[in-house]
Formats: sequence, C-alpha cells, structure tokens
Amino acid sequence: NKILVENEWFELNKEKILFQSKRIPFKYDSNSGLGILGVSRDITDLYETQKKLEEQTIKDELTKTYNRKYFNEKLKEQFDLYKRYKVNFCIALFDIDDFKKVNDTYGHKVGDEVLIKISKIINKNIRITDILFRIGGEEFVIIYRKIQLEDALKSAEKIKNLIQNEEIIKNHPITISIGLTQIKENDNDDTLFKRSDNLMYASKKNGKNRITID
Ligand code: GH3
Ligand code: MG
Ligand code: MG
Repeated sequence: NKILVENEWFELNKEKILFQSKRIPFKYDSNSGLGILGVSRDITDLYETQKKLEEQTIKDELTKTYNRKYFNEKLKEQFDLYKRYKVNFCIALFDIDDFKKVNDTYGHKVGDEVLIKISKIINKNIRITDILFRIGGEEFVIIYRKIQLEDALKSAEKIKNLIQNEEIIKNHPITISIGLTQIKENDNDDTLFKRSDNLMYASKKNGKNRITID
C-alpha cells in the first residue's frame, strides 16, 4: 500500500541516463487483488541542474574554487576529525601582494584573470586531499589534510615560487604572503584562523613574498 520510488542509472546509446521509477499499487476491481502501476521518467536533466545548483552554493563564481561558506564547513569537519581521531591538518592563508597596483596598472579585468590563473596553478599543484578556497577578494586558504607542518611548508614554498615565476603578467612578478600553521591541542576554528591571519600579516610586515609559520 505504499508508493515505491527508485532512481537508477542506465546506459542508453553510450549516454548515462537517470531514471526515476515509481511503483504505485492499485486495485483492479472488487474481485481481484492489487496491481502495480509503474511509471518511469528520465530525470537526468533535473539531476544535473540540481547538482549544478549545489555546486554554485559552495563555489566562487570567478575562479570556480570553493568559497568561504564551504571553507567554514570543511574547517569544522577537520576539527571534528581532529577531536575524535587526532587527524592532523594545517592551513595556509595567503593574500596577493600589492594587488591594488595590478588593478590600477592593468585594469580590473586583468586583475580578475590573475585571480583565475593563481587558482589554476594551485589546484594543479596540490594533492587531491588538499583543498583550495577563495575566502575574500584576493585572499585564499589551503587546507592541508592529514599532513605535518614541514610537509605543508614544502608545498606552500613550491606554490609561492610557482606563482612568482609563472609570468602571470609579463614583466610584473606576482607574489603572495602566506601564514601557515598546524592545528594545536586547544585550538578552535576561530583561534586557528586568527593565528594564520596574524602570521600572514607578519609576512606582509616583514617585506611580503614570504611564509611565516607557527
Ligand atoms: P597588500 O600587499 O598589503 O595585500 O596590498 P594590496 O594592494 O594587495 O591590498 P589592498 O587590500 O589595498 O587591495 C586589495 C585589492 O584587491 C583591492 C581590490 O580592488 C582588489 N580586489 C579584490 N577583489 C577583487 C576581484 O575580484 N577582482 C579584482 N580585479 N580585484 C579585486
Ligand atoms: Mg587583502
Ligand atoms: Mg593584498
């Protein structure tokens, strides 16, 4: 006496199609028992649209990297893992140096392209388990999962050098200032983020284009 709903993937002409099938019980007539009416429909488009919408809420429009909202979610997740299983992690917060000058000299559009290119360079050069987020205008975070500080530092150094040497804009090296830190015993998401922010500002104060760790 219940309607059963089932979604199932099929391959049709080399295309994957998501079918939703409903099985609806009904009585033929007063003499016979129950029958089942089946209805199937192709819900692939609906599924794709839904997936796209979900993606949009966690991704940044310009760079297609994950956004601040998703960063907060993932950070919370990492904290839970740390508290329960002592799974270690690090975060690197970085800000592009003198980015206002890029916009003022080459225009906002070129500035936008720099943000896109930086995101691409990083996503190509971090491990599949590490995640890049754009959390503000020209501010990014990488969460390094299951990693010790010295390995995260190696990665951060590599990225810093790649960005500087890439010639994102011809004859105008782009540099970043990084604050890198590892989860500590009494941290909460606030103290961890604050610490990385302070470290990043220390990098700025000490001449930019550098990494400060704690
Ligand atoms: P510092 O080295 O101290 O970080 O200097 P800065 O010039 O990078 O920092 P400031 O905070 O003075 O300027 C940041 C600039 O980033 C100003 C803003 O117009 C620009 N910006 C923020 N978001 C975007 C964006 O989405 N696209 C572009 N093109 N520019 C952006
Ligand atoms: Mg900034
Ligand atoms: Mg900046």
